[in-house]
Amino acid sequence: MADIRPLNGTVAPDGPMARLWRGGSALLDLILPPRCAGCGVQTGSHGGMCIACWRKTRFVSAPQCAQCGYPFELDFGVGARCGACLSNAPHYDRARAAVAYDDGIAKILIAFKHGDRTDLAPGLSRWMMRAGADLLAEADVIAPVPLHRRRLFDRRYNQSVLLARPLAAAYGKPLVSDALIRKRHTPIQGHLSASARRRNVEGAFRTNPDRKAEIDGRRILLIDDVMTTGATVDAAARRLKRDGAAAVDILTLARVVRESAPV
Ligand SMILES: [Zn+2]
Ligand SMILES: [Zn+2]
Repeated sequence: MADIRPLNGTVAPDGPMARLWRGGSALLDLILPPRCAGCGVQTGSHGGMCIACWRKTRFVSAPQCAQCGYPFELDFGVGARCGACLSNAPHYDRARAAVAYDDGIAKILIAFKHGDRTDLAPGLSRWMMRAGADLLAEADVIAPVPLHRRRLFDRRYNQSVLLARPLAAAYGKPLVSDALIRKRHTPIQGHLSASARRRNVEGAFRTNPDRKAEIDGRRILLIDDVMTTGATVDAAARRLKRDGAAAVDILTLARVVRESAPV
């Protein structure tokens, strides 16, 4: 069972690759002093954040909406859903996230996505294991949300694949990196309203015909870095279900938790 600890305290699973990774990490320590991904202070080891930044991190846990995973102030019982899910149910079955999106997590994500801090992936995925233990255990297939090819080229790697890989390995589940294909380049969504985001991502995905056997009748667990309004992952879930998936769950590193969200 995954536990919560600062990223720099994360122990990689055992095995030849893990030993190689640790060896490389020790070598890296000699060349570059390790720095916190959140605030930049020097830390004990690579792949981490300092204790102060870790303490500020808000982990998402029960009680929460059974469907979208929004945290509740009060426990409304097993299966209770939030007002947003009751009035306009998402296409996905369940969504869970490790942490609430805030300035600290934003900095870590920028380092991870744009700053080549791919060494953060094992630690971040351990946070996700704790939040998504049930989803991971029940999944038939793990699939990252794809980036459009143009954005992949800009960034050189898809951060969702880097998060999905250790999750699939830890739970012994098949990782299908190309279950979904991004059809067109969706503009960066940062400042769009919820309905504009939905229009923006509608029809953004198609399922890979070569992956039909892995999708048909299966419970798919989609992996992404952040859930904002949920429009992107919902469009992906709708596409997968229309093309034969039995169920689609979502596991993200972070999610936006607005204080004024409906209960
Ligand atoms: Zn820090
Ligand atoms: Zn909900």
